[in-house]
Amino acid sequence: MSSTKYSISEILNELGENREDYFQAVAPPIIQSSNFHFKTLDSFREKIVNEWTSNIYTRGNNPTVHILRKKIAALEGAEDSIITSSGSAAIAMAVISQVKAGDHVICIQNPYSWTYKLLTNLLARFGVESTFIDGTNNANFIKATKDNTKLIYLESPNSLTFEVQDLRFVANFARENNIITAIDNTHCTPIYQNPLSFGIDIVIHSASKYLNGHSDILGGVICANNHIIRQIAKQEYMILGSIISPNDAFLMIRGLRTLALRVERSDSSCRYIVDHLAQNPKIKKIYYTQDPNHPQASLIKSQMKGNGGLFSLELNTDSMQEVEDFVHSVRHFLFAVSWGGHESLIFPTCAFYGVQGIKPYLPFQFIRFYIGLEDQELLLQDILQALEKIN
Ligand SMILES: *Cc1c(COP(=O)(O)O)cnc(C)c1O
Repeated sequence: MSSTKYSISEILNELGENREDYFQAVAPPIIQSSNFHFKTLDSFREKIVNEWTSNIYTRGNNPTVHILRKKIAALEGAEDSIITSSGSAAIAMAVISQVKAGDHVICIQNPYSWTYKLLTNLLARFGVESTFIDGTNNANFIKATKDNTKLIYLESPNSLTFEVQDLRFVANFARENNIITAIDNTHCTPIYQNPLSFGIDIVIHSASKYLNGHSDILGGVICANNHIIRQIAKQEYMILGSIISPNDAFLMIRGLRTLALRVERSDSSCRYIVDHLAQNPKIKKIYYTQDPNHPQASLIKSQMKGNGGLFSLELNTDSMQEVEDFVHSVRHFLFAVSWGGHESLIFPTCAFYGVQGIKPYLPFQFIRFYIGLEDQELLLQDILQALEKIN
């Protein structure tokens, strides 16, 4: 695949859709077939060398998934992409592809929970060691680097407190030291941040969030150059077999039609709501990347074009009861994990307090909000009425 620059509009509405191949249908077909047959031995011999781009078997390639791969790669300005069954599968495949026993990984502190478990449980069992660092300070990347460091893993911003890393610095430093860089770019989507343009090697998304955008499927994506994608496709992708189904690929293509509209709508509603909560005495602290007083404001401006629908806050109370009353008082936000769909959500840290085996690292007053596609005034008024529970 090529890395020719297409506009967002061309990518979402046209790219990859060769309609003459399927009766000039406007919507792409769902090729619900596990298998493809060959008329001659020669055609088989020609295709089998490229199992992840030829139609041989759907674990390697499927025509519906192939359309999606072209759009996703183009959105990140990548040469190629891989689509997986979940974001977690994409993270695992990408990370595993870059390490072997005896290698070392540097990861930002408090990454997505299953990323942490991949590094500290699964890969540790196979002799891969990880160091977790505060990625807001560039010097920490230098300090943590060892002779056997093979991968630097980023999440910028991360998905609860939204610290960012200096992508240009990390990409340059890693390249000078022969270290591969990977980033979980789920928060920003390709609409608001394209890490490959800063020199990062591998971009990962949980497509279960904004890319699909309707809270009805799971999916993940990996974007990189042809060399890295081929390497992952020939090993981790084919071996682990954690693919997206043709039907779910079709749904993701449909979700992508409105990606820019949805992300921009969430972004502007989120900005409106945060602006109106900023001076509220019932709130102790707001976490929001577009806050002009954010300690990393100039870095954020230099690498992110927007925020989307996520922000967090700490309620100004020492009473667990009041926090719980707040959570139970909102009417237009669903209490749930995840984000990136049409529906607004709250994810309160107090839900983890008193659960056996869990030690929360954030205060119980902390709540993450996801602003979806509903009316912004309805959402703001809902938060304001729930804040009455705080004395
Ligand atoms: C949800 C999420 C994931 C995991 O994606 P799944 O599709 O749920 O497997 C990874 N990273 C971030 C930042 C996420 O929010």
